[in-house]
Amino acid sequence: MSALEPVIGVEIHVQLRTRTKMFCGCELSFGDPPNTHTCPVCLAHPGVLPVTNREAVRLALEIGLALGCEIAPRSIFHRKNYFYPDLPKAYQISQYDVPLCGRGRFTAVAEDGREIPVGITRVHLEEDAAKLMHLGGSGRRAGAERSAVDFNRGGTPLVEIVTEPDLTSAADVAVFLRQLRQTLLFLGVSDCNMEEGSMRADANVSVRPAGSTALGTKTELKNMNSFRFLERGITAEVERQRATIAAGGRVVQETVHFEPETGEIHPLRSKEEAHDYRYLPEPDLVPVAPDPAWVDGLRAGLPELPQALRARWVGEMGLSHEDADVLTESPELAAYFAAVAAEADPKAAANWVRGELRAQLRERGEEPWQGNVTPARLAALLGLLADGTLSVPGAKEALAEVIATGEEPAAVVARRGLGQISDEGELTALVDRLLAEHAAQADQLRSGKDKVLGFFVGQAMKATQGRADPGAVSRLVRERALGG
Ligand SMILES: [Zn+2]
Repeated sequence: MSALEPVIGVEIHVQLRTRTKMFCGCELSFGDPPNTHTCPVCLAHPGVLPVTNREAVRLALEIGLALGCEIAPRSIFHRKNYFYPDLPKAYQISQYDVPLCGRGRFTAVAEDGREIPVGITRVHLEEDAAKLMHLGGSGRRAGAERSAVDFNRGGTPLVEIVTEPDLTSAADVAVFLRQLRQTLLFLGVSDCNMEEGSMRADANVSVRPAGSTALGTKTELKNMNSFRFLERGITAEVERQRATIAAGGRVVQETVHFEPETGEIHPLRSKEEAHDYRYLPEPDLVPVAPDPAWVDGLRAGLPELPQALRARWVGEMGLSHEDADVLTESPELAAYFAAVAAEADPKAAANWVRGELRAQLRERGEEPWQGNVTPARLAALLGLLADGTLSVPGAKEALAEVIATGEEPAAVVARRGLGQISDEGELTALVDRLLAEHAAQADQLRSGKDKVLGFFVGQAMKATQGRADPGAVSRLVRERALGG
């Protein structure tokens, strides 16, 4: 039997960053006391009428435009019927056969520069359900003493993004979702906070013989709130399907649950999950027919998105795909890096922003764009490094000082005497002293053991608190020891 390859599509739910809910005037809230943001509309009292939130439509259109979708001239809402305590109307207002946006494309780029093109089937608007809380006992749905409902979340605007089954590995899914999230952050449409549930992903997973175009039976991996768990869950589910088929069995269409603690996949009983949602057009809402001029304006107003930014930085600045990926993690970080790179060597800027700067700031719980290291100060520091005024250890020390005091790097270097020692006479005297003090190592060097060179450079750095120019020291050790 030929090898079985995975075929994966994903569905992503994103809570939109509007001020109010999808169909009523209640304000969105996180962490407020339960049931303090409710009204007759989102509690489904009889006789109330929903009104579509224009701002939610705008944000959904921006997502669709950023993903290269076609915008439907006229889309409608449907009622998706099911009974559950978190859904007071016993139906969710969603979109069905006429979504707001469809037929787009998003191309993720892996660390090695390989493109991962993913078709976007649709982008549609809907409302979120309320939040169930299971109290007492186990604190979980099974074994709790009682359950309560917090309707603050009920009616929050959601966008659902559905992809074509174009992904072929769990790792590619993780790259795609991470870069899609970056795009949404740049658009400013959501805070995309996975822990708080404002971005959630499901995956549809199947396997098929390599090279085949037919689709196998798929299972749905539900509601993963971390990319790492989703990646592990997909890997486990692909293995389970392969093993099932290898053992002569058949994959059943069902929803499966991944247990991150044990790494196990548990199929949920398929009968229980077989819904008939009885979709019907929502009679209380008018169709969404966005003015073409409005849509054109939104398209023209989109910011430069991380995909474009990464391609530009790789092409124009010579950054690696990995550097570009990390530096477009958030709009704030990208803007910070761009400002540094405008005044310093871009590759050095990328190294220092990703590496030393973030490492030193992490201890203080700060981000690069906060605090004392303005882009101009970091660029000035990199300038002192580039012209040889500072050694790498000296630059790191100066950076720590700038972080702590907000002084200009040149002032720090002068005040602390951090400047690199390049003076030939001073370094020659130092090297002569070290060669005399470590006669055994000096003899090893003379007998051709080049490795000992590093020992002397290390000693010189130690003696000068890292200020000696290592290149000059290395050259002088050879000259003075070998009589060159
Ligand atoms: Zn309300």
